Amino acid sequence: MDTQKTVKGDNVYKKFIFLLSIMFGLITAITVGLMLFTRGENQYFYKIAFSATIIVLTIAAIVLLAIIYIVIRLWYNYPIPKFSRKLLEISITLVYPIMIFLGKLLKYNKNIIRAAFTELNNKLVLSNEYNIEPKNILILTPHCIQKSFCPHKITTDIRNCKRCGKCNVDNLIGLEDKYGVNFRVMTGGTLARKTIKDLKPKAIVAIACERDLISGLQDVKGLPIIAVTNNRPEGPCVNTSVDLNKVEKAIKHFLP
Ligand code: SF4
Repeated sequence: MDTQKTVKGDNVYKKFIFLLSIMFGLITAITVGLMLFTRGENQYFYKIAFSATIIVLTIAAIVLLAIIYIVIRLWYNYPIPKFSRKLLEISITLVYPIMIFLGKLLKYNKNIIRAAFTELNNKLVLSNEYNIEPKNILILTPHCIQKSFCPHKITTDIRNCKRCGKCNVDNLIGLEDKYGVNFRVMTGGTLARKTIKDLKPKAIVAIACERDLISGLQDVKGLPIIAVTNNRPEGPCVNTSVDLNKVEKAIKHFLP
């Protein structure tokens, strides 16, 4: 069985800030250590090492303090500054792998860190207002949402679904019809990227596991994405389902 450990609420923010603080401590220790290593050697090298340390620590401190500032504002549901989306994108690209590494050392479940990033992303998107036409909203889900026994090829055309109601594909087609949004079922990241390139959506509701959601957030830059973690009662990648209320709420958030 998939353990599917996730964290909710304050826990996410506390763990996130804790890991960021450790990361800053490590950066400080490494850069100061390197600087001290060159002390007593050639004064010229020491001066370069000292200047480099000050620059690295200043940049790291500004970025990390800015991230912590945003996280705390999200935590208390305060309005978010405009630069925060960009900063979150940067942190997903740069900070996320380091946090996964630290999380491994501290024996955190990777999904806890992934959930923290996706929840922060969602909070950011939900704190903005949108006015997007339904045809420019895309719901994406992996094909494991389709029942494994179902013979119909819905990845090429979701309308091949016979709407038997045995999986959430039926419900998601229902949401597509109700709101006039686009819904696609993906076989993998490559097809997802191609679909986004072809349809050029202005907003995405992404349904997937924590790992795929993070990959999606890393891949797709400059588009608001609301990430909805799927349910995996039979383990990963088989007969998954989704909380339809969350999907519908996400669609409504993007609509005029
Ligand atoms: S709703 Fe029924 S027909 Fe449609 S994909 Fe699911 S199992 Fe297949």
